[in-house]
Amino acid sequence: MKNKLQSILAECSGRTIVVASKYADPSTIKALYAQGFHTFGENRVDSFLEKYDMLRDYAIHWHFIGTLQSKKVVKMINKIECLHALDNIKLARYIEHYRRDPLNCFIQVNITQEETKHGLRVEEVLPFLKEIASFKKINIIGLMTMARAHDTEEQIRHVFLALKELLNRVQLEYPMIQSLSMGMSDDYEIALECGATHLRLGRILFEEKE
Ligand SMILES: *Cc1c(COP(=O)(O)O)cnc(C)c1O
Repeated sequence: MKNKLQSILAECSGRTIVVASKYADPSTIKALYAQGFHTFGENRVDSFLEKYDMLRDYAIHWHFIGTLQSKKVVKMINKIECLHALDNIKLARYIEHYRRDPLNCFIQVNITQEETKHGLRVEEVLPFLKEIASFKKINIIGLMTMARAHDTEEQIRHVFLALKELLNRVQLEYPMIQSLSMGMSDDYEIALECGATHLRLGRILFEEKE
């Protein structure tokens, strides 16, 4: 019988699983790599740099999934393949300045309009795209969001479908933007139904090892 990790890989086949590795030490990352998980996303610059160095021998696709402070861009921006949480022009300018080649980025959108959450509001996304349209080092590939932790399944589905709808509108002007980064351990199955292309999975991959 397949183990849990293999069944999650199969369930998400055709999509990209970004392992949210903030909970994982390098040896755990190596074990997941051996099981077929090759894309990892960190959300703190210091622990990213540490793990990046310790795992140099692995062909890991490193993404950055957390909030990134502009002042930290210089240290890490040329070591990642993708940024999931671009949401302000200052950060975009730093990336434009320090990145050597175009970086794939998702724009983080705050669908639920929570004060505490990062991300652009829905109506800010098209103006932001216009503002960064001439940036050569920023290649927007999609939109990212997070549902509220204690929402019902129906509320979560509403959030993910709202992001998908926003993507449809964005595509009228920017047809190359095609990806949706949404879904975490508790809600990735809903995200799959709603068209997620990138799932950011943490706890579910680390709990109850088999
Ligand atoms: C930790 C984290 C995740 C994964 O969360 P889990 O609930 O552990 O799956 C996804 N996205 C971001 C931005 C995270 O920080």
